[in-house]
Amino acid sequence: MQDPIRIALDDTTPAQAGRFDRFKLIAWWDQDRLRNAKVLVIGAGALGNELLKNLALLGVGNVLVADLDIIENSNLSRSVLYRASDSGKAKATVAAEAAREIYPDMATQSFVGNVVYDLGLGVFRWADVILGGLDNREARLAINRACWKLNKPWIDGAIETIQGTARVFVPDGPAQASACYECTMSETDWRLLNLRRSCNLLTREQMQTGHTPTTPTISSIIAGVQVQEAVKILHGLPTFAGKGWVFEGLSADSYMTEFQRKEDCYSHDPLDEVIELQASAQSLTARELLFIAREKLGPEAQIELGRDVLEKLTCPRCKREENLFSSLGKVSVDKAWCPPCMEAGHKSRREVTTFHKIRGDEAFLDQPLASIGIPPFDILISRNANQTIGFELTGDAPQVLGNLSRHDEGLDFE
Ligand SMILES: [Zn+2]
Ligand SMILES: [Zn+2]
Repeated sequence: MQDPIRIALDDTTPAQAGRFDRFKLIAWWDQDRLRNAKVLVIGAGALGNELLKNLALLGVGNVLVADLDIIENSNLSRSVLYRASDSGKAKATVAAEAAREIYPDMATQSFVGNVVYDLGLGVFRWADVILGGLDNREARLAINRACWKLNKPWIDGAIETIQGTARVFVPDGPAQASACYECTMSETDWRLLNLRRSCNLLTREQMQTGHTPTTPTISSIIAGVQVQEAVKILHGLPTFAGKGWVFEGLSADSYMTEFQRKEDCYSHDPLDEVIELQASAQSLTARELLFIAREKLGPEAQIELGRDVLEKLTCPRCKREENLFSSLGKVSVDKAWCPPCMEAGHKSRREVTTFHKIRGDEAFLDQPLASIGIPPFDILISRNANQTIGFELTGDAPQVLGNLSRHDEGLDFE
């Protein structure tokens, strides 16, 4: 007699019968691992489309897709999941739906928003592996720090014209200490990143819409390698962690490059523990969270937000201040201009003040975390000399994970 759990997990529903028969001929293949796997795909552009297509064909069971953008006609030449009729719709939503058309048993959820500022860290903790398909350093660094905090492997893809690279980053295990994305960053990378960070809202938004020329052929090659490494991770097989696979399209040469680990790298900051709070960003106040953290870590403990939150805008001309308390990802370009000065006929661009800690003397302590720019299902961090603890807003999980919150078996990684 068959084990009932086994039946539920097997692909024996009439419509799915035989679907994965060829994979089963691979000696080490375990379709149940893929069916139970939880994958976070960040970016639903050229790479993201290929990542999702591959995950769906392979029978990966749980996928969350995050992207800010809407579909334009120029995407159609590099995006197998989009049609002309999708123009104007959110990439993440359409991509998730199209992946489910390929593999109807896949549970999906989409996140339409800024992945650096508005994607709660709980999503990273939920995932078994993270796949990156974004084209900027700021997002890569944010993904990297989140993954290192939560001990999650991530696989980055980068493409330009007909060349590209796939890089595998696996946080420190007992057996190895490998390089992370931040370790690979050169002085030029930091200069470009800081330029991006220091600029005000207007230039920030302009810089986010990069127009790197790419082809569907290179995105298919690089995303293929990314997903194949993810399959190996999900099976507990060795991967090229701490290395990058580079493909030079013009010469059709490929090679591996090994990254040097930097011992003083800021990303190597794992949480010792994550405490799940049955609380939501909408209801828990900053004061309540600080109280919980201090109970655990002592009266000096502060809350680290792990990201910059916009506190106020100050006009250099008329000195007026406007308190905003918003995520940097949610403030639009036109907010940069000072309204009273505009009315008086002067175009004055306001300066941005951000904060990234709650110390206990703030005026906003009794406001809910959401109202000061903290995203739902986030993990906020507090530490003392001995330990670093993450406090997860687990009450937001059903809202953020949607369908995915019902499939929570998970895999253990050693
Ligand atoms: Zn590092
Ligand atoms: Zn002004």
